[in-house]
Amino acid sequence: MSAELDDLYQSIILDHNRRPRNFRVMDDASAHAEGKNPLCGDQLTIWLKLEDDQISDVSFQGSGCAISKASASLMTAAIKGKSRGEAEQLFTKFHGVVTGVHPEDAESLGSLKALGGVSRFPLRVKCASLAWHAMHAALTQDDAVDAPVSTE
Ligand code: ZN
Repeated sequence: MSAELDDLYQSIILDHNRRPRNFRVMDDASAHAEGKNPLCGDQLTIWLKLEDDQISDVSFQGSGCAISKASASLMTAAIKGKSRGEAEQLFTKFHGVVTGVHPEDAESLGSLKALGGVSRFPLRVKCASLAWHAMHAALTQDDAVDAPVSTE
């Protein structure tokens, strides 16, 4: 990755960390789940509003490092309006990129590819995937139930 691209990606992450999108509690959510990453001290809650099969709204709140917050912010922007299946597919793709298993998929990730660099830092992979694991937990529940998420 060129130094210029690194700078661009860095600025996307800093921007989302400083001004996280969809950073609020959702009172009328259909589902929510908590994610914790004790290794770094990141913790966040994801709220989803589902209309039929569509994620009509998504928000998060929590505290943690810049990577975990930026990743949650980028995720909410990426999955809003998507179907459950599309959101899960995006998670699979994102996970493949941040773990370095499928770097070739980065190009199709849009702004999310800014987080692709964490594949070089194994501990940061958990930070970057935390929000996604929580989103997955919220999606796979029938009701609003807290689900502590363990990241692998
Ligand atoms: Zn972290």
